[in-house]
Amino acid sequence: MAYNDFKMDNQWLPFTPNRSFAKDPRIFVAADGMHFTTHDGRQVIDGISSLWCVGAGHNRKPINDAIKRQLDTLDYATAFSVSNDKAFRAAEMIAAMAPGDLNKVLFCNSGSEAADTSMKVALAYHRARGEAQRNLFIGRERGYHGVGFGGMSVGGIPANRKVYGTSLLPRVDHLRFIHDPVKHAFVQHQEPVWEDDILLELENRILPLHDPSNVAAVIVEPVAGSAGWYVPPKGYLKRLREICDKHGILLIFDEVITGFGRLGTAFGADWYGVQPDMLNFAKCVTNGVIPLGGVVCSQRIYDAMMGAHGSAPDHAIEFFHGYTYSGHPVACAAAIATLELFQQENLFARAGEMGQVLSDAMFSAIKGLPHVVGIRSLGLACAVELAPQAGLPGKRAFDVFLDCFHRGVLVRNAGDNLVFAPPYIVEREHIETMVSVLADAIKRLPA
Ligand code: PMP
Repeated sequence: MAYNDFKMDNQWLPFTPNRSFAKDPRIFVAADGMHFTTHDGRQVIDGISSLWCVGAGHNRKPINDAIKRQLDTLDYATAFSVSNDKAFRAAEMIAAMAPGDLNKVLFCNSGSEAADTSMKVALAYHRARGEAQRNLFIGRERGYHGVGFGGMSVGGIPANRKVYGTSLLPRVDHLRFIHDPVKHAFVQHQEPVWEDDILLELENRILPLHDPSNVAAVIVEPVAGSAGWYVPPKGYLKRLREICDKHGILLIFDEVITGFGRLGTAFGADWYGVQPDMLNFAKCVTNGVIPLGGVVCSQRIYDAMMGAHGSAPDHAIEFFHGYTYSGHPVACAAAIATLELFQQENLFARAGEMGQVLSDAMFSAIKGLPHVVGIRSLGLACAVELAPQAGLPGKRAFDVFLDCFHRGVLVRNAGDNLVFAPPYIVEREHIETMVSVLADAIKRLPA
């Protein structure tokens, strides 16, 4: 098998326990539809869309063909001072899907770059309007916005920050987390209803502490994905929008996970009926096949930045930002084919329908099992929370992940959570297998 052809000494794996990996290698060599093939020839169901990316399933011919065609036509072109046809077309399609007046797409290559890009736009926008003092960002506890210094600073997963000490952006605060582990442990396919107003903290503590006129932007994921699929309380995002509007603060939705269908709608913004000023995307935009990310900005933001340069000469650059691979033609060709495929196969609606099936199956098979302290579902994603083992947080979930993998199901462990977020093409039989393998693995955990 090909896996004997390489040493395992030189790759430093991301967000992975490297020391134990070689003892139990988990290596994929092929994928098709809902399944991977491992180095030792086994089939594994992709229960997580390869980290929320592969909405249309693996090895989709229209996407592969578009990439091959593009390679033979225009392999790459710089994005600075010139551009390419596919980048304009992909931007047009994304803008047409994005809510309201979100219609200016800044391309980058990942969700982390999208976070940093959106934060830089926020700073530049306020400066362009004469409000240079607005340089403070508000994220949320246990939010995830990637691993760049901007995204890591507004992000709020403690483990991702603590090994870097204090060398993060200095002007950041965090909203309190959106989960009550006692009252809202089990929330089946809906928004939890809170008696108290969790956003009073923003109005009563955070904004008075910093003075709202110093705040550039609030950045949140519509549903907290990487932390373990935590759904905000009913009305939360609408109220956040109102508070931001009242104080001239920009609202950024990080839709790297919720974008392109996960909730059964194009974006989380559509599901919630709330319009952000910027929307970050990545992952599903190319079905994960080629890295591509971006930020869709509102016309208002674009106009303000351009307006500030109204009398500048033609050669003056308005926004000093961009990546060598911004709007890469091959990535944009993949995006065009992916978005067409989503539409042709009506896959967002399918994600919504199969989400209900997944949620029902999870609640009936998993609720009541030992160690299970919560289940949360919305859209085509569902998380099971396990009680942490004393002194070893995350261990139970990691053990379940390993057990499931060896029994042919890829589930994502996130802290003490196990998350399923399968491709939108998932069938009932896959869900039955995923859920029963997960249930067995949980039952096999030591007491
Ligand atoms: N934002 C969110 C909401 C994410 O879920 C992720 C990745 N899981 C990122 C940003 C970072 O994306 P990337 O890993 O592509 O940099």
